[in-house]
Amino acid sequence: VTFKDVSGLTEPKTEIQEIVEFLRNPQRYTDLGGKIPKGALLVGPPGTGKTLLAKAVAGEANVPFFSMSGSDFVEMFVGVGASRVRDLFRQAKEKAPCIVFIDEIDAVGRARGKNPNMGANDERENTLNQLLTEMDGFGSNSGVIILAATNRADILDKALLRAGRFDRQITVDLPELKDRVEIFNVHLRNIKKDDTVDVEVMARQTAGFSGADIANVCNEAALIAARNNKKTVDRDSFMSAIDRIICGLEHSSKIISPEEKKAIAIHEAGHATVSWFLEYSNEMVKVSIVPRGMALGAAWYMPEERQITPLQALLDQMCMTLGGRAAEELSLGEISTGALNDLEKVTKMAYAIVVYYGMSEKLPNVCYYDSTGQSYGFSKPYGGERAKQIDEEVSRIISEQYERAKQIIRDHKEGHARLAETLLTKEVMYSEDLKEIFGERQWRSRTEEIMLLQAERDAAREAAKAAESKSDVEEEKENSSEPQDVVAVEVNPVEETKPQDDNDDSSVATPPPFKGV
Ligand code: ADP
Repeated sequence: VTFKDVSGLTEPKTEIQEIVEFLRNPQRYTDLGGKIPKGALLVGPPGTGKTLLAKAVAGEANVPFFSMSGSDFVEMFVGVGASRVRDLFRQAKEKAPCIVFIDEIDAVGRARGKNPNMGANDERENTLNQLLTEMDGFGSNSGVIILAATNRADILDKALLRAGRFDRQITVDLPELKDRVEIFNVHLRNIKKDDTVDVEVMARQTAGFSGADIANVCNEAALIAARNNKKTVDRDSFMSAIDRIICGLEHSSKIISPEEKKAIAIHEAGHATVSWFLEYSNEMVKVSIVPRGMALGAAWYMPEERQITPLQALLDQMCMTLGGRAAEELSLGEISTGALNDLEKVTKMAYAIVVYYGMSEKLPNVCYYDSTGQSYGFSKPYGGERAKQIDEEVSRIISEQYERAKQIIRDHKEGHARLAETLLTKEVMYSEDLKEIFGERQWRSRTEEIMLLQAERDAAREAAKAAESKSDVEEEKENSSEPQDVVAVEVNPVEETKPQDDNDDSSVATPPPFKGV
């Protein structure tokens, strides 16, 4: 595996490139008195390519790769973990220079004995101590570099993170839109797809997917196409694969009584109606009352890429989620258990607004979130009076949004009824159908704005690159004794790349309109 196989992850790759240089040419650093770092920690959610990146480092530097998972060290038998650590490092030292990769290091590296209630795991502590000893034991010029992966650096023992151990942390995030396009392209290489497949649209549909999820989508799509005896993998197969990974398989054989079906249609139409009239709700793509996985109906939204979320966006999201039950109450006059999932989500969100984000009116700017996951244990960091206020704020926020959802459905009663009716007969509806009923949506999706920004950033990067290589060429021109016109020929291609980039940008800036699934 080399860096070519790792798509996206531009920043982690540049950071880790240094380690490749250390391995290839340690002397350049040690001659000047520098010490080679012993390890780096790759931090990020599962499936984002941490293992892949570590393997690529070994591949690029052309050194052996040893790997072990943190949970392999933690055994029932006392002493096994520590001796495995010793074995691993003994082997690694023999084969140095090399990479030792420890996956899930949090399994051994969790902070030691902070929580007396839980009873310390002595075996794990022994293992961790052994690991620390080994890391200190070998000299910085031995050529063994340890890469470790975790999705929670905050719970690791501070001793692991101090200088001379894992003093470098490299963050490996979920891929952004542009990276997802690249990852799709990597995994589509071996798939026989046809012209209906639009990588850009798929990348937009899969916000929040990790690299591993995307690899899974591509494979699943091929399996679905094969099951349907298709000659190539088409757009429908990919969309079914994405749906399947989000919500599970369709159960078209599940038998649902007509009344139940009506209730489901009214519920889903409620979500769709409310979302259409809220600024921050995501653009609806499809709503269906075909049961799937555990859900009886589902609505698909074009997810937005967001790093921070304004309060109003959270409230809109809650309002939309409550739209299902609100519609049941208004149109059927009775409510059902179908909203369980929605209510769970809404309650968690309201709780988060109050105690994590400090955004409620009565308790502004307090946060009881503990990012280290250690201090509170079973006890709460506030007293009874505070707990009561929290409960009141949570209930207030939820009932306000519920009332708001009901009001929106009342205001658009006919549209909602028509939507539910159509859904009952057609079972699946797309955003075009909603447009027909409610008219054009007042707000535009933010995803398009982000694509514009991204295109701008890329253009700036390219321009800087072009300018750089141009000045290189000019330097050459000064130094060279060759006749002028020969150099001029070299200058041209650099300048010519520009208009080509502009073309690329415009195709990104105006994405093809998204038509149904
Ligand atoms: P992690 O170690 O972060 O849990 P892995 O490195 O094991 O994740 O990733 C699992 C699989 O997901 C990889 O084998 C690869 O097929 C795919 N994958 C993840 N990220 C990427 C990426 N950036 N580019 C290409 N493939 C990726």
